[in-house]
Amino acid sequence: MRKISQIVIHCSATRPDWMEGHSAAEKRDEIDRWHKARGWRGIGYHAIIDRDGAFAQGREVEQIGAHVKGHNLETIGVCLIGGHGAAAHDAFPDHFTDAQAGALLAFVEAWREDDPAIIISGHNEYAAKGCPGFDVAGWLKGHGIDARPQPAPQIVSDPAPSAPAWLLRPPMRRRARA
Ligand SMILES: [Zn+2]
Repeated sequence: MRKISQIVIHCSATRPDWMEGHSAAEKRDEIDRWHKARGWRGIGYHAIIDRDGAFAQGREVEQIGAHVKGHNLETIGVCLIGGHGAAAHDAFPDHFTDAQAGALLAFVEAWREDDPAIIISGHNEYAAKGCPGFDVAGWLKGHGIDARPQPAPQIVSDPAPSAPAWLLRPPMRRRARA
């Protein structure tokens, strides 16, 4: 099993009406073609979230992605369709739909359920880019989700109760009496 410690959020930097009327899978296939044209072995993201909140699977989660330079090893990349011309600190609704917000939150929550320590970040935290076109940590905070949770306190089991002193060191007078 590949260790996954982080979800990195991206956008496709496409206009809101890009490939309108086509399914999420068709958009995934188009991105797959773009990334193959870059010489990659296929789509670099692990999932895309379409304008209507529909998911399409990208690269297998078990496979290392190609979406954030220097941070692909333990991450998965999820790409929101849209975000053309987005800047790093735009508001989520400037570029994405309510359906995408719901789908992304469900995605994050599902992974968090599996691993409460998983970190959620945006591509722009690792590169001087607008992608994904909003402040991921701030947006999540607005939904009551901490992007970088403190590790849960380790539950340390109590040490074995120590034996009472009288058991370890019987009073000398008992021995004397015996
Ligand atoms: Zn990106």
